[in-house]
Amino acid sequence: MLTGKTAIITGANRGIGLATVEAFAKQGAVVWACVRTQSEEFEQKMKEISSEYATTITPVYFDVTKESEAKEAVKMIGGYSKGIDILVNNAGISVERLFSMTSIETIGNTMEVNFLSQVRLAQLVSRLMVRNRTGSIINIASVSGIESEQGSIAYGSSKAAVIFSTKTMAVELGKYGIRVNSVSPGFIDTDMWKNRDNDVSDRIMTRTPLGRKGTAQEVANVILFLASDMASYMTGQNLVVDGGRLGWGY
Ligand code: NDP
Repeated sequence: MLTGKTAIITGANRGIGLATVEAFAKQGAVVWACVRTQSEEFEQKMKEISSEYATTITPVYFDVTKESEAKEAVKMIGGYSKGIDILVNNAGISVERLFSMTSIETIGNTMEVNFLSQVRLAQLVSRLMVRNRTGSIINIASVSGIESEQGSIAYGSSKAAVIFSTKTMAVELGKYGIRVNSVSPGFIDTDMWKNRDNDVSDRIMTRTPLGRKGTAQEVANVILFLASDMASYMTGQNLVVDGGRLGWGY
């Protein structure tokens, strides 16, 4: 599905990002796997995946919130590649705190990581995509950006901004052959849920028709679909991957 394509994936060391690296490699993509901390374990994992699927995966190190690092990384990738076909803006943090208890600084920081960093990278990478008049950008949002829930002033707002900005980018970049879509996962079994309250997860499960958490691979499959030519007539969409969740049940 992705033979001959080059992809940039952020947050590639774990969870949905790692599953996406694997899904893309399996389909023949050349992957630039972006993480903020260098580690032997990560490099080893990338070597294993690339040799299993006979493709190239190159680790790239930068913090998505650092403008100069992001610019440098995209410049470097652009210098080595004939073009970038796919950007998966996946890196993100979760913040769960009541509105009245959340500092403006926390909201700002969450917006910076989850929203502004995605916009910055999309700007940098779309400039390269424009040259080849083709590209697919997938921004990872969340169901929290669609439906309000208690404690989601920072996280939910940042993800709502992702969904909205995706549509704006799609409108502006369509004429260059660049598609921009978002994916909104529901309750996915990754480290992000490690410290969540059991009551919250029980409540979500009772309102999830499929009756279980999703896996990182199940989200990666949808990202893969949007990245591929199978979705060639889709742009400005937000695909929800949440097991059919019926809201929060307030
Ligand atoms: P994880 O917590 O497992 O992974 C988050 C990734 O983002 C890590 O690779 C982390 O790197 C990276 N990251 C965070 N901050 C930065 C930064 N400043 N610079 C570079 N990388 C950074 O989460 P998931 O895999 O579950 O989440 C992936 C995406 O999916 C996120 O955008 C999240 O909001 C979204 N999502 C997840 C849901 C879920 O239920 N799991 C539900 C809805 C949306 P490091 O290891 O260095 O911290």
